[in-house]
Amino acid sequence: MQPAVLYTIRRAAVLFFVTLMLSQPLQALEQESVTASSPSAPESVQSTTATKEEFTAKLTAEQTCRRIGNKLGSVSVRECLDLDLQAAGGVSTLGTPILVKEFPPLPSREPQARVLLIGGIHGDEYSSVSVVFKWLKTLNAHHSGLFHWIVSPLVNPDGLLDFRPSQRMNARGVDLNRNFPTTDWQQESTDYWIRRTGRDKRRYPGPGPLSEPESQWVAKVIEQFKPNVIISVHAPYNVLDFDGPPVAPPRKLGHLYLDLMGTYPGSLGRYAGIIEGIPVITIELTYAGIMPTDHQIRKIWVDMVRWLSRNAHDRKPDTQIPALRSPASR
Ligand SMILES: [Zn+2]
Repeated sequence: MQPAVLYTIRRAAVLFFVTLMLSQPLQALEQESVTASSPSAPESVQSTTATKEEFTAKLTAEQTCRRIGNKLGSVSVRECLDLDLQAAGGVSTLGTPILVKEFPPLPSREPQARVLLIGGIHGDEYSSVSVVFKWLKTLNAHHSGLFHWIVSPLVNPDGLLDFRPSQRMNARGVDLNRNFPTTDWQQESTDYWIRRTGRDKRRYPGPGPLSEPESQWVAKVIEQFKPNVIISVHAPYNVLDFDGPPVAPPRKLGHLYLDLMGTYPGSLGRYAGIIEGIPVITIELTYAGIMPTDHQIRKIWVDMVRWLSRNAHDRKPDTQIPALRSPASR
């Protein structure tokens, strides 16, 4: 895609979201999303005074939902559309928005902490995307303000949507989970890739740290949102991993038990957990192509929220962090 086109898409997405942020309180967005099951919801944009650019951005988010719904057996187009996800700044290598939803602080309570939840950083780990969609649905219905969430179910849309079969890497063949700017990236990541993986294409760390728009977006959200905990969903290692400061990691979440696997050069766990000091929970679902049972999905969620409520605390309350605007507007 031409840089000019990419720029236009990105700018449209930014304008759309900034206008939304300015024109109504975030709480109103929350209310809308809960009742967004009415079939006329997508058309509501047309009936307002939305500019052409805003409408384009909305269409782009909708088109992305259609592509996701058509690709994943466990997420329907309707289900995705009803979540009213935003094309809020992140754009993939091939120009697809990285959809995101913020569940902001509610007037009734100060959130205990900020939590960033992401899925699908590896495009062929289908269940990691679908499960985050299920939790989005839960949050949409039950967001209580206990935490301030930013949720992005598919960080690597190109890997999932633009390849047959879907691939782990992004469209430029980079393993995004090896592309984060860990210390001595140049030396360590490339060395590790050559010596330890034998130049495994699936684990190519990229030409440089944060060389990819998808990893750049995640890093900027981390920088701006300042999450107190990051949860990243993967598959299929059937385990729970934890990186970061010495808080008590969850012993288990649902059917997944803690097994500290260590980190890799350029991985999110090493970057955010070890270097930035943010607890990173990595959920490795049992299968990439088979969903956990509904019971298992619920149980992981309940255990996760319970662990968060005991362990995730924001020492410096800062509920006005412009989480989604700033990454895109830079
Ligand atoms: Zn993975």
